[in-house]
Amino acid sequence: MKPLVPFIHGLNHQEEATWLTVLRAAAPELEIIVGHALTPDQSARAQVAIVANPDPAHLANLPNLVWIYSLWAGVERLMPAIAGTHLKVARLVDPVLTQTMAEAVLAWSLYLHRDMPRYAAQQRNKIWQQWPVPRPHERTIGVLGLGQLGAASATILACHGFEVLGWSRSPKTIDGVTSFHSEDGLTTLLQKSDIVIALLPATPQTTRLLSRERLGQMKQGASLINFARGAILDQEALLAGLDAGALNHAVLDVFLQEPLSGDSPLWTHPKITILPHISAPTNKQSAALQVTERIAAWHRDGTVPTFVEAGLGY
Ligand code: NAP
Repeated sequence: MKPLVPFIHGLNHQEEATWLTVLRAAAPELEIIVGHALTPDQSARAQVAIVANPDPAHLANLPNLVWIYSLWAGVERLMPAIAGTHLKVARLVDPVLTQTMAEAVLAWSLYLHRDMPRYAAQQRNKIWQQWPVPRPHERTIGVLGLGQLGAASATILACHGFEVLGWSRSPKTIDGVTSFHSEDGLTTLLQKSDIVIALLPATPQTTRLLSRERLGQMKQGASLINFARGAILDQEALLAGLDAGALNHAVLDVFLQEPLSGDSPLWTHPKITILPHISAPTNKQSAALQVTERIAAWHRDGTVPTFVEAGLGY
């Protein structure tokens, strides 16, 4: 009998159908059944479930569930939702996602490095004016978070010739990257970086980490790229920093409320570039392979995936 894997989600019908198709194609050796179609007998058989924005009540209906696999890389909504249960959580780690994010980091770093917002503004006003072009090694880029996405992003920036600093909870050794940790390490990174890129998970510790005080520590005229989560940034403080001329530009891909509301002042701010959460979209085919391979391995020989540390929330 094939291992039975429920797919518990809060997606719409179309997304459900697309995910079911790719998950089943990726793992013919698993019986993947959408949560609402499970019989009581099937619910009792399930030990691992695939989840995407699940209703915790639906997970509670699976009495023998041991762990769940999140189709999303960020688990800031999932962890509080299952707090108090015995469930362990694995989250999407996918080399394709990592590569996509590193590519976005390089692309938008170059956008700032080569002054593209300024030239776009000049074009709107028919201004023909050239500005000096610094070499990459004259530009310091600080990456906040050196995990799956941050480490690869820092590496691609270093390979491009930028001076790269990184910050994480624990010290890291990454070729071409000067690694910092601790509160003082963050201060140093912010003071030295021309571009700061956020790739931290949203947790209680990182909520509004980029506060008025922290943004105030950034180098005069520095820019910010937020590819992490809206919650880590104090939006009002960012607007104040941009308006005062302390900060040069912000590229924002993530927001407290998504889609960004039509009346948000961020949309029309001349020093802000808005992206609709596209820096690293999930590639369903590669994600389905990553998720189902690990579930199949656990059923086959008990290989345990890397679980999220509940105490840390990432
Ligand atoms: P990850 O592998 O868990 O790495 C997280 C990094 O942040 C680690 O280096 C960790 O330090 C560091 N960190 C966490 N809390 C910290 C704290 N309080 N102080 C200092 N450093 C801290 O996560 P990931 O896979 O790289 O993903 C990062 C985030 O990117 C996700 O959580 C998600 O929110 C976001 N994301 C965005 C998109 C998008 O399209 N915009 C797509 C995917 C993911 P240690 O290494 O010391 O543990």
